[in-house]
Amino acid sequence: MDHRKVIIIGSGPAGLTAAIYTARAEMQPLVLEGHEPGGQLTLTTDVDNFPGFSQGILGPELISQMRAQAQRFGAECTNDSVASVDLQKRPFTISLENGKNYTAETVIISTGASAKFLGLENEKELTGRGVSTCATCDGFFYKDKIVHVVGGGDTAMEDATFIAKFAKEVYVIHRRDTLRASKPMQDRAFKNEKIQFIWDSAVEKILFDEQGVKGIEVRNLKSDEVQTRKTDGLFYAIGHTPNTSFLKGQLETDQNGFLKTHNGPETSIPGVFACGDVQDPIYRQAITAAGSGCQAAIKAERFLEGH
Ligand code: NDP
Repeated sequence: MDHRKVIIIGSGPAGLTAAIYTARAEMQPLVLEGHEPGGQLTLTTDVDNFPGFSQGILGPELISQMRAQAQRFGAECTNDSVASVDLQKRPFTISLENGKNYTAETVIISTGASAKFLGLENEKELTGRGVSTCATCDGFFYKDKIVHVVGGGDTAMEDATFIAKFAKEVYVIHRRDTLRASKPMQDRAFKNEKIQFIWDSAVEKILFDEQGVKGIEVRNLKSDEVQTRKTDGLFYAIGHTPNTSFLKGQLETDQNGFLKTHNGPETSIPGVFACGDVQDPIYRQAITAAGSGCQAAIKAERFLEGH
């Protein structure tokens, strides 16, 4: 069986930063890139908030630069996806969907999280043309526009408040008449004059033309009345699903399935580290993911030295 010092599962900014650091530490990392190589950044267009790119950079370009940087130091990146892992004994075993197996002294998990979508017709094609799952990334593009945010949790409140800095009108559409968000976040949104709430309601249809989103149809779940609303942007803030199914419960998670970490990137199993969105329900930024990838790499290197 092919044996490695470190295997990195996932290839977004967290995994690729871990690859750069472990490659430079001469650990010859193997990066298993998964079904969506590059992760969520490959689904966005302009990235304006990653330091070092004063004119911004396209998400896919940023990823391809990170990958090239890791490969320059000897990281091996393959398009393979992991079917299952055995983390109960060292070396750890990683089984790929193509039937191949590896063993590894250390494992870095950076499989990210996927934003939940409503499941409406055309929503995926309209991502980047009016539909967004990341206010921090895209809010800025809605200067003086009308935006609707779906969700009633902390993310929805934070997103609405952030987008209201730019947009002229922000509407939060929530399926119930009480919010899940924490009291301070609710209060902040309630106090913001640009933000209004549409209660007990669900978006049923996205209206669009070749430029992108133009409006939505919203059903009031109590009265069943459907209204057509003009909008330039539709932001989903209905939660994220961490990509952990291949772990089959071998690592501790929080109640939403995010991997629990301590002392930075340490998981509940020594030698297994987690970085990026798979362990971060709060920040979910490329730069924070990259930072945690660096931490995971340094911890993996120290772990190897100690064993
Ligand atoms: P949550 O799971 O907390 O909230 C999701 C919201 O979306 C809920 O209001 C839910 O409605 C709604 N929702 C879910 N599915 C659908 C659907 N299919 N259609 C319509 N509405 C839907 O996710 P968040 O991303 O808001 O937060 C995740 C975690 O991160 C939380 O623990 C939160 O506290 C934390 N967080 C903290 C922040 C901070 O402290 N600054 C910032 C952001 C997040 P319902 O309420 O009816 O279930």
